[in-house]
Amino acid sequence: MEMTEGILGAIKNNVGHAKHSEFYGMHLSDIDPGDIKTEADFLKLPFTEKDDLRGAYPLGLNAVPDEKIVRIHSSSGTTGMPVIIPYTERDVHDWAVMFKRCYETAGVTERDRVHITPGYGLWTAGIGFQAGAEMLGAMALPIGPGNTDKQIMMMMDLKSTVLCATSSYALLLAEKITERGILDKIHLKRALIGSERWGEKMRKRIANELGVRLYDIYGLTEIYGPGIGISCDFECGMHMWTDYLYYEIVNPKTGVRVRQGEVGELVITTLNKEGAPLVRYRTHDLTRELTGECACGLKFPRIDTLIGRSDDMVKVKGAIIYPSSVDETLAGVDGVSSEYQIMIDHLNGKDIVTLFFETEVPADGYDGLEKTVKDSFKAAIGITVNAKAVGLGDLPRSEKKSTRIFDNRY
Ligand code: ZN
Repeated sequence: MEMTEGILGAIKNNVGHAKHSEFYGMHLSDIDPGDIKTEADFLKLPFTEKDDLRGAYPLGLNAVPDEKIVRIHSSSGTTGMPVIIPYTERDVHDWAVMFKRCYETAGVTERDRVHITPGYGLWTAGIGFQAGAEMLGAMALPIGPGNTDKQIMMMMDLKSTVLCATSSYALLLAEKITERGILDKIHLKRALIGSERWGEKMRKRIANELGVRLYDIYGLTEIYGPGIGISCDFECGMHMWTDYLYYEIVNPKTGVRVRQGEVGELVITTLNKEGAPLVRYRTHDLTRELTGECACGLKFPRIDTLIGRSDDMVKVKGAIIYPSSVDETLAGVDGVSSEYQIMIDHLNGKDIVTLFFETEVPADGYDGLEKTVKDSFKAAIGITVNAKAVGLGDLPRSEKKSTRIFDNRY
């Protein structure tokens, strides 16, 4: 996004403030905030990686006196040490303001009943959805994940109008509701779906089977949590709340900024965060910047729907597989559902790619469908896969973000 005098000033303050923390005190020890006068000076600042934050465990990111911290959250690290993010009262407030703005952008009002399925606790998701809904004045239903039968009962009895969920959990709910034929008892109008890359087919299934309009909500624990950006009615990427953050898009390999409109990794610098300010934080989310005004009238700039994560991009036999290109390829084959899993193994000196996909076609049609999928893959991505059809619902669904590409080679 464009660098202005105002943003440069905010970044300078943020860098000066960040240096009060143990981590940035060392990480930016050579940097004098007063020297950041131009965009080129900003670009000399080192990136911050998730591993840096892990190394700052437990409270090495805290940039204010301990008594100013009112809450901590922690990112769901599957490996290694957790990342602890401390929040001041103002951070908690600012996050709710951004989240309220997300609901407003999605057309949610104080008359809505907001059914919140993401988890509560150290994870930021549930409480972020709740704080924004309460600030808006809507009725928050803090149900959390799991117990799908009870979810659906409460959704019917309390007449929930807005569903907040990950895409895989929204799909699971949609499947259960369709299975039971109870769509006429469901009052949902909108669904705010957590920032996971998800394909057109899955989107259409959730929208049709739940009868809702879908919004992509973006965020990560390291930068407040979900709610720092959202798509609008015009479904053209996500507006980012750039009064709270500055973002740039860089080549994930070289760290150099890409040209406007090119795909790269999203890097975020916070502008007002007190507890744990971040400078040039690498999100590993792949996207691109969209240009031009949005028809909705919001002036906040937009990034495209996530294309995947730079750590999910896998290279096989010289070709790069992005989860989004798998989605697109499968979307082009009739009879294939949105759900798939890819296993990459190394056997007898060769990389073997197995693609499991769900289909509603009866088992005697599997052979033909598998051949079509194999041919489409070869044509679109340039590699040969073993395509294996399975029935609808046979692949695992998850309440959190789901992993679809498993690289077992290393
Ligand atoms: Zn818009």
